[in-house]
Amino acid sequence: MASRVIPVDAFDLVIFGGTGDLARRKILPGLFRRFCAGQMPEDAQIIGAARSDLDTAGYRTMIKDAIEEFGGADLAQNPSMPGFLERLSYVAVDARGDSGWPELASLIRMEKVNAFYFSVGPGLFGDLAERLKRYKMADDSSRIVVEKPFGRDLATAKALNNTLAQHFDETQIYRIDHYLGKETVQNLMAVRFGNMLFEPLWNNQYIDHIQITVAETVGVGGRGGYYDKSGAMRDMVQNHLMQLLCLIAMEPPAKFDPDAVRDEKLKVIRALDPVEPHHVVRGQYGDTPDQPDYRTHAENPSSKTESFVAMKVGISNWRWAGTPVYLRTGKRLRARSSEITVVFKDAPHSIFGAEKGTHRNELHIRLQPNEGMTLDVTIKEPGPGGMRLVNVPLDMTFAEAIGPDVEDVPDAYERLIMDVIRGNQTLFMRGDEVEAAWAWTDPIIEGWEARGDVPKPYDSGSDGPTDAIAMLARDGRSWREISA
Ligand code: NAD
Repeated sequence: MASRVIPVDAFDLVIFGGTGDLARRKILPGLFRRFCAGQMPEDAQIIGAARSDLDTAGYRTMIKDAIEEFGGADLAQNPSMPGFLERLSYVAVDARGDSGWPELASLIRMEKVNAFYFSVGPGLFGDLAERLKRYKMADDSSRIVVEKPFGRDLATAKALNNTLAQHFDETQIYRIDHYLGKETVQNLMAVRFGNMLFEPLWNNQYIDHIQITVAETVGVGGRGGYYDKSGAMRDMVQNHLMQLLCLIAMEPPAKFDPDAVRDEKLKVIRALDPVEPHHVVRGQYGDTPDQPDYRTHAENPSSKTESFVAMKVGISNWRWAGTPVYLRTGKRLRARSSEITVVFKDAPHSIFGAEKGTHRNELHIRLQPNEGMTLDVTIKEPGPGGMRLVNVPLDMTFAEAIGPDVEDVPDAYERLIMDVIRGNQTLFMRGDEVEAAWAWTDPIIEGWEARGDVPKPYDSGSDGPTDAIAMLARDGRSWREISA
């Protein structure tokens, strides 16, 4: 099952913040991988633009080092490296001043696709957008890519949207949520809307509940100051988990086109019930012999910011009323694992008798690690001993289905950047989607602040606070085990 690489049109891609962590760790190694795969045309041009006083030779060395450090051994030794580095240039610019801009403008070929990646803090988005237009480097066909965080509440997200809208049309704005670029996330749409098998069952009549877990083993050390002003709700739930929830719960769009898909996602967010305080559990991780606790990492001994959140979410529409979605995300948990579990209801009557056990169908959609899906089905346990039932997984792990070509599957950033060049916004968040997500999230956070809510401590390396386990137990359910 060979993957097919379709080269994109020639392009100029400017990466503002081209010397930053994200550019060096993700964007440039990803672009190099696409170059090696033959997806990038010969005359593509990538321009790093940042405050550092570098020249093109210095930038090429920096990016070569970054690819060697973050791209893995195979990539570092790829003989295409010199050819890729030739595609790179660098201009020192100040987003807030005028230095460097005329030089940058002179490099842009307006007849090609041009895209501008804002890999900088959101405080600079307005300055960059305004100067791109003032220096006539961007026209109605140019694209801008913006990173999370897109605001910290509804008011700031609206302000950012308004700022960008002064210079660019919504069809030119690509708000990245790298979760949407993951292979399994797109496969979720293929499985739901490309098969007859699941869609008739995909509703409150047949599905008992859904769980979405994004668990990390790392803490916030190194970026504790930033994280402490954000917390799991803003950093993960409002964007990544919300996007996964939308894709799992949305109605089938009429077409697989950007606005058809995003219209349906927006309807899901607007149908979410307000969350009751007793349907949310917040937590903060404790220390271990070799790692300090959250508050030490955050350098804030009285921090009330959550490094874990679990919640029960209701969707008030015909498809989902009465079928809850449980969301859970946190740092320093048992394993690094992102997974969606769809738990189907019990068969209405067991012909084998209650003592044979109840075995539910569960669909596990795994985003990381080991992207893939398994469907638990009930069969007879082979061999003698009567009619004993057992659940076995039907495994749709990509590594097995795709074989050796799994290595060629682009990672999320690579795919999304190529989508920007192709002009396909399907996997990017629209402005009204982001605002609707904040409108749902804001009252939850405001409630915590008003009540002076203090997160519950939890052991590092655990499944989170025991209250999160109790929350599901009250509903007669249990979380799926967090495992790598
Ligand atoms: P960083 O601090 O490592 O890099 C910031 C970059 O912006 C540098 O290249 C710097 O030179 C440039 N810059 C700063 N001020 C400038 C100015 N006035 N004019 C021109 N350039 C200027 O930050 P980062 O970690 O690369 O993150 C960039 C953005 O991406 C942030 O908004 C961050 O929240 C977001 N983000 C980062 C990650 C990540 O993994 N690092 C993940 C998701 C989102």
